[in-house]
Amino acid sequence: MNLNCVNILKWTEAQLKYTCDVSLTEATPQELHEALGQAVMMAISDNWSRSKKTRMHERKAYYISAEYLIGRLVYSNLFNLGILDEMKKLFAERGVDLAVLEDIEDDALGNGGLGRLAACFLDSAASTNIPLSGYGLRYKFGLFKQSFDGNGSQVEKADDWTKYGDPWSYRRYNHTVKIKFPEHTVLAVPYDVPVIGYGTSNVGTLRLWQCEAEQELDFNAFNDQDYLRALDAKNKAEDITRVLYPNDSTWEGKRLRIKQQYVLSSASLQDMLRTFKLAHGNDLTQFSTYYAVQLNDTHPAMSIPELIRLLMQEGMNFDQAFDVAQKTFSYTNHTVMGEALEKWPLDLMRSVVPEIVDIICQIDAKLKQEHPNLFIIRDNVAHMANLSVYVGSYVNGVAEIHTQILKDDCFKEWYCVYPERFQNKTNGITPRRWIGLCNPELTAMVRELVGGDFLKDLDIIGKLKDHINDETVTRFNAIKRLKKEQLCSVVAKQEGVMLNPDFIFDVQVKRLHEYKRQLLNILAVVDIYFRLKEGRLPDFHPTVYLFGAKSAPGYARAKAIIRYINRVARMINNDPAVADKLKVVFVQNYNCSYAEHIIPAADISEQISPAGTEASGTGNMKLMLNGAVTLGTLDGANVEIAKEAGHENEYIFGHTVEQLRQAEPTYYARGIYDTNADLRRAINTLVDGTVPTDDGQRDLFHSLLDGSGWDKADHYFLLLDYQSYLDAKLQANRDYADRLAFGRKCLSSDRTIRQYASEIWHIKPTQY
Ligand SMILES: *Cc1c(COP(=O)(O)O)cnc(C)c1O
Repeated sequence: MNLNCVNILKWTEAQLKYTCDVSLTEATPQELHEALGQAVMMAISDNWSRSKKTRMHERKAYYISAEYLIGRLVYSNLFNLGILDEMKKLFAERGVDLAVLEDIEDDALGNGGLGRLAACFLDSAASTNIPLSGYGLRYKFGLFKQSFDGNGSQVEKADDWTKYGDPWSYRRYNHTVKIKFPEHTVLAVPYDVPVIGYGTSNVGTLRLWQCEAEQELDFNAFNDQDYLRALDAKNKAEDITRVLYPNDSTWEGKRLRIKQQYVLSSASLQDMLRTFKLAHGNDLTQFSTYYAVQLNDTHPAMSIPELIRLLMQEGMNFDQAFDVAQKTFSYTNHTVMGEALEKWPLDLMRSVVPEIVDIICQIDAKLKQEHPNLFIIRDNVAHMANLSVYVGSYVNGVAEIHTQILKDDCFKEWYCVYPERFQNKTNGITPRRWIGLCNPELTAMVRELVGGDFLKDLDIIGKLKDHINDETVTRFNAIKRLKKEQLCSVVAKQEGVMLNPDFIFDVQVKRLHEYKRQLLNILAVVDIYFRLKEGRLPDFHPTVYLFGAKSAPGYARAKAIIRYINRVARMINNDPAVADKLKVVFVQNYNCSYAEHIIPAADISEQISPAGTEASGTGNMKLMLNGAVTLGTLDGANVEIAKEAGHENEYIFGHTVEQLRQAEPTYYARGIYDTNADLRRAINTLVDGTVPTDDGQRDLFHSLLDGSGWDKADHYFLLLDYQSYLDAKLQANRDYADRLAFGRKCLSSDRTIRQYASEIWHIKPTQY
């Protein structure tokens, strides 16, 4: 794309002058970001409006997601436009270091993997010219900001991400829609974010809905000096999109949550019906010919009854509307854990969206007539996943093993009746952000070796294996060392901890959850610590164990794990006996931008969930793409990565799904505790005072060894997998000498999007 960088610089200067009356060098990072963002928006405006008009009359895909974990847009937008280096140079000539934009906070409208996947997909669709638009919610407060107090406890702070403005979206008030609830009608106002493709002039759109009141101010109430009541309607409307639910597995705060989901569903579908009529006229029976809608998990599943409701309002009967909905929607499942599958009590739902409940009941009646053994409603509870399987064209899992579990377990009865609906679409990541942008040094080396632009076609990275020799390994190691040095200065600044780049960087970064087994990792670290002090690990290569993770604010056990890791870190880091061997650091506020610093510096990637619990994982892909070796279980996409990379380049440990199934009925965690003295010593630090602990760690101790009531002991098999984990961890440490293990298999979201486009949405890329 031929963008004029000098113009962008000039426009930035002009914006700064007339909006803040400052020069380039006087501007704060926030002012500079705002002005530069506006200048780039101007520069891409022609391409954006042309992209919107292209193929208006053809079939397109729409991605509805309650979450988009976008990260920081300024660098990735300049990168995708191919002007990042040029702009850095131009600004430097004017005395401005664009690195100051590292102060700009992330757009964190998502919790973790699911939201990041949505963001990667938009990037991939734009970059491969697939006509895909995103719909989401513009939460006023994104995922909370995390810090640790002197106790090592997580402290949450609201994330007011638009405080300094939001240069990357346009408010499109004229496309506002109304959303009706029994107690009030609210406005959903769209904000459009451009999705700038890489190596193309295509610009996609992410449309985010923000709730507002029809009448901001009750004038009469204000006149009566009842100021609270005067703003009542405004607050009640704005509450709906005020916060992202900071919990990525179970959904609380139920009424508000239902309202959010309904706004997302209804606003997006009303918008689609409007554009359908513009392009194709009023024959809505043709809707599914032109609109393929993907539901990112069940959070937007109310879209299904909402479309039926809207079509019936336009004069269709139920069966016709059902038929259109079935052809329109497909559903991506992201979890096999029963407690995380969305279920809504009908009474609760009826109090918020009564008409939607009526339609769900009709759908359920139709299902039970056709297949008496299947259900959507049972015991007055609506099962949103079942609704999505029934009224949809396809349902997909996000890794081969995960899709298999869906067929064998979760949706077994459904798979019997509708085998043709089940597909696999293994997740992927955008290589632009996850190597191109965050690791330009490695990108340059790979480009030189494989020729061509692997950021457009990640398959060609496979050619790397023909170039692995002493010289390339040396170069790779030098780059890894440089990325560690860079991370060390970030960690020094953010955490006040000094790390040594000569250490191995063993990294576990992801949401904090019992199933992700951060506790297994830290118990092994404690064990290694004691062994080092006893001189039992003479050849141990010095290692920093780095953690990054946020816990859902109400998830007590996850928070107890955070406190424990922080207190273990303090104990180890203050012990001079291991100072040259061991460091533990838990970074605060792990988010996309932090990930972009950590991942290129990682040597070892910890992906240690028990087999059958992590649907896919995408952190594993980002780390592998940057040349970290995986220390992992045969779970999620690890299975496919390991198959391709070869077990000699991976450290695979632990029980398989099949082995866990067999072990489970007679599993006795305490038996392992009683016989493994080293493990016992590590676990005892949860309660014996070696590490300062509290009731939270005591609860962890009992949850591992005793369980409570219906909660079985060691639900996630930490003790069962412990020995093979420790062996693999120490083996990886010993092998850290010479190796180059990146690039064998990289799972690109371009490939994933191509597969969705051809196998689910049935659309082709546009030629430019
Ligand atoms: C990729 C990513 C995740 C998902 O990590 P998993 O290891 O797949 O759970 C979560 N948070 C952020 C910020 C990410 O970039």
